[in-house]
Amino acid sequence: MSVNATGRCLVCYAETKNRCSKCKRAGVDLFFCSPEHQKLAWPGHRIFCGPNAFPLLFPYFTDAELEDLFTKLEQPSFGEDGRTTLLASLQKSWSWNLKLEEVKSLLRRCTLTAKDREPLDSSWAQFFLSAFRAVPDEGKIATAYLLWALATWVKTLLRADNVSFPQLTGDRTWPETEILHRALAIETIINHSNAGDSHAEEEAYYESNLITANLALQAYLKDAFPTERAAAFHRALAQRFLWDVMRKFGGGGVATG
Ligand SMILES: [Zn+2]
Ligand SMILES: [Zn+2]
Repeated sequence: MSVNATGRCLVCYAETKNRCSKCKRAGVDLFFCSPEHQKLAWPGHRIFCGPNAFPLLFPYFTDAELEDLFTKLEQPSFGEDGRTTLLASLQKSWSWNLKLEEVKSLLRRCTLTAKDREPLDSSWAQFFLSAFRAVPDEGKIATAYLLWALATWVKTLLRADNVSFPQLTGDRTWPETEILHRALAIETIINHSNAGDSHAEEEAYYESNLITANLALQAYLKDAFPTERAAAFHRALAQRFLWDVMRKFGGGGVATG
């Protein structure tokens, strides 16, 4: 599709000719300035590398994940008093009016093994997959954590832009896709630094790359979107980013207003 000779590194925004070869074969241009930055983003990028990179399609649930969701749906564990169920909490945050059995039957069609499986690029499948990926996962396995983090960015983007869930079919130019790839790189760096037993030197390495990747995202927003829209994205994304930074690095006193 694109014939761009150069692009901007997903991590640091440096101009470069190096792009991800697997994504390139799928007709998607994603650039990395160096093997170092490609490696840094890889644990997240590998989930969306190649044919489903553009647009980003959330992967189907495994059967085990579905079972897990079903047991969590009616557990009163959300909200300020800890008594809201997952179902009610999602109904509220996504303005659903669906009943429990309807939700279950739709979710059953979003697994790898379902006989009547919904196409991955249908917008309702993606709506469900992203909504349920946005449920915080205590287990923090890298992939589950990254999918949760990315789903949170999707919600942030949709709220910033005040649009309904995007129609994914056939749309390979949704500009928010690159924001999500950049967001995923940021989350991957955060995930790296959350991996434990890292010493001060590694912490400093990830922290500096985290700042770099955030500046790269801001530069992309400035280049890619009209001012007003960029400003709305910017505010929403800054809040998301600061929340993560505060959680990770304990940056107390950072204003998010
Ligand atoms: Zn770079
Ligand atoms: Zn790729």
